[in-house]
Amino acid sequence: MEMKYIFIGVVLILYTIVVYLFSRLGKTREIGPRRLFLISFFLTPIMGLAFLLSSNERKMYTYTEQSYKCEKCGYTFSESFDCCPFCEKEGYKHKLKPVSKLMT
Ligand SMILES: [Zn+2]
Repeated sequence: MEMKYIFIGVVLILYTIVVYLFSRLGKTREIGPRRLFLISFFLTPIMGLAFLLSSNERKMYTYTEQSYKCEKCGYTFSESFDCCPFCEKEGYKHKLKPVSKLMT
């Protein structure tokens, strides 16, 4: 009798671990890991998989950020300066070139 309860306990723990690991797949999906965990836990991971596959891939939002690059030392600044502060220290006056950096 006691062995049976231990067995059920172990199975439940393993089940939770499997469901938890599986739910992490939802991170990149619109469904999200938390909802996927609950669905997989109560409705079995087979249902969870169906939900995972039907949910769309989460969109990565990309935007460009205006930044300014010194072509002499290669450093990129987020603010505009009249000339590169690093090169200015060394006695050079180097104009910064506006560039748009792709952010994710
Ligand atoms: Zn520079």
